[in-house]
Parts: sequence; structure tokens; C-alpha cells
Amino acid sequence: MLGILALQGAFEEHEKMLRALGCQTVLIRKKNDIPQNLTGLVLVGGESTTQRKLLCELDMLEILKERINSGVPVLATCAGLILLAKEITGGEQTCFGFLPVRVCRNAYGRQLGSFSAVGDIGSIKNFPMRFIRAPYIERTLADDKEVEILNVTDGRITAVRYKNILAMSFHPELTDDTRIHNLFVDMTKIYSRKL
Ligand code: GLN
Repeated sequence: MLGILALQGAFEEHEKMLRALGCQTVLIRKKNDIPQNLTGLVLVGGESTTQRKLLCELDMLEILKERINSGVPVLATCAGLILLAKEITGGEQTCFGFLPVRVCRNAYGRQLGSFSAVGDIGSIKNFPMRFIRAPYIERTLADDKEVEILNVTDGRITAVRYKNILAMSFHPELTDDTRIHNLFVDMTKIYSRKL
């Protein structure tokens, strides 16, 4: 069962895409929604400060942290990337602190708003990337073998893979291209086989 954090932000689009790929999904709005058999977790785009506060208020932070630490595959987009990061530029409060990168919020792009680009995400060629007040990864904190850099656009890291994490500063759920979600689904299938 794939869980999609649905406290705020772009959760419906992920749900639609994953269902179209034949996955069973559940929207996680409170602690009791977290299924025992969670085999994948989506941390969605939106507003990371709001999501972090809600995770604390609803007492969900620790339980999700445990699941992430125990190897449940995570697809994190935009605000989701910020929630996972070990460091945020400017010393802002972190949330899960699992992904060894330093992210810079709301600072990517020629203008502060939205823009699109096309680029390779690891072996996925010519992926349409949609950025909305996006963060970028200023630097990785582990050596490069641990954090695999999947995309650099305009000299900035926008997508990485690390252990059970696939994280990016753009929004694959807002395109018709399912290749990143397919990759995530493959990660969840490999994980379920190991259980
Ligand atoms: N700017 C948002 C934040 O800092 C992230 C933007 C997004 O998820 N589209 O949380």
C-alpha cells in the first residue's frame, strides 16, 4: 500500500498518477491513516513549513520518520524534498533530517515564480520539469557515492537518489510523463519483495 501525505499541497495529482499505474494508494491525513503494510510514501509539494507544523501537531513525525529510517521507499517532490533534507540554508528548522543534502528554499529560477525546463533525470531522458517556487540542492553532505545526483539544471542540483529516497525540486505529478513515478513504483515493488 502506497501512502501519500495529504496534509496540504499537491497530493491529488500523485494519487491520480499512481492509481493510473495500477497502485493501491491511501491518503495520509492523520496518524491512523498510516497503514501497517506501508510499502511506499509520497511527500508532496506545497508549503513545507505548514506541512512540518501539521506533522508535529498531528503527532505523525516520529512514526513516519521510523518508517523512512527502516527503508520504506520515498518519492519526495519540492516541499517534500525540504522535509527530508538534513540542512536548510539559513539554519531553518528541519523535519525528517534523513537526506544528506543542504537545500535552499524559494531561491531557484530566473524569477522567483514558476518555470519549466527539460532535462535528463539519471537514465530518464528528456523529462519535462515543472518548477514552482522551487528549492534547489546547494550541496550534498555525504560523498557522491551515497547521494547520486540525477539532474543539474542551470548549475543547480534538482534531483537526487539516496538509499530509499528519490527526491526532486520539481513536480513530475503535474506532467503527463509517468517515468519518475514508474521508477518509484519499481522501488516499492523491490522493497515489498524483501519484506
Ligand atoms: N516554496 C515551497 C516551500 O518552501 C515549496 C514549493 C513547492 O512545493 N512547490 O515549502
